[in-house]
Amino acid sequence: MSIKENLFEIKSELPKNVTLVAVSKTKPISDLMEAYDADQRIFGENKIQEMTEKWEAMPKDIQWHMIGHIQTNKVKYMAPYVSLIHGVDSLKLLEEINKQAIKNNRIIDCLLQIHIAEEETKFGLNEEELDHLIDSDSFKTMSNIRIVGLMGMATFTNNQSQIKKEFLLLKSIFDSKKAISIVNCQLSILSMGMSGDYKLAIECGSSMVRIGSSIFGGR
Ligand SMILES: *Cc1c(COP(=O)(O)O)cnc(C)c1O
Repeated sequence: MSIKENLFEIKSELPKNVTLVAVSKTKPISDLMEAYDADQRIFGENKIQEMTEKWEAMPKDIQWHMIGHIQTNKVKYMAPYVSLIHGVDSLKLLEEINKQAIKNNRIIDCLLQIHIAEEETKFGLNEEELDHLIDSDSFKTMSNIRIVGLMGMATFTNNQSQIKKEFLLLKSIFDSKKAISIVNCQLSILSMGMSGDYKLAIECGSSMVRIGSSIFGGR
């Protein structure tokens, strides 16, 4: 099936309240343009340099989401245009995003990444670290970032009940923080689910899915 057909099929079965991020990392611009021509406007990339090259070359009504792990010294390259940063998991990184947002006279939306998987290697905060970050004085003074939700990745496994357990954990953390209302932190987005597990993620309350290989093919 073509990229267009894949997109139409996935979109036709997504509930209206669920946003699709087309994960286009490693794919050539011609593939992204095929998705663009099928009306896709939100693309997810995991390397800042690659995303910036694509941003420069492609139509300007695209919303670029950074979904990968971020090196602090590279934030400046995406600060002028990035639309949502999914993988924020430290105060230090938030400080840099805030600083670069100020320089660009923007407010940058971010999701805090929560560690829900069993694997040690996956990035993210636990619930205690999340509370600590939101309660910190330094966070409260960050005028140019806005935490708009949470993001997480389940363990890479075929065990559906384990994946479900992890998604439900993230949903429960999300629900327990939804009432927080400080100027720069109001949670409305729950980013969870990829090609292999997005249907389960939606059942568990996801409002944003990040789908790559089911649209663009394997990498
Ligand atoms: C690559 C990636 C995805 C998409 O993965 P697929 O299995 O190709 O759908 C989603 N989220 C993150 C954080 C990724 O790095």
